[in-house]
Amino acid sequence: MGVKTVMEMGSKAKVEKIRPEGEFYTCPSCGYTDGFHVSFNSVGNTGKADIYLICPNCHSRFRTGWQADLTNS
Ligand SMILES: [Zn+2]
Repeated sequence: MGVKTVMEMGSKAKVEKIRPEGEFYTCPSCGYTDGFHVSFNSVGNTGKADIYLICPNCHSRFRTGWQADLTNS
């Protein structure tokens, strides 16, 4: 498993915009084909979060433009 264990703490990871099309599981950076991890980045006090996809293989982050509603009322 060629997984890098060195995390870049506090560094500005490169975030690419991604356009989901068709069956959507392939990383555009490295070609990994088993799908993505999902990460949420809360937006101020709006109760919303931007949704990011993270490649489990090369750890590229992709901005989707999707938003999640974090309120569970
Ligand atoms: Zn990748």
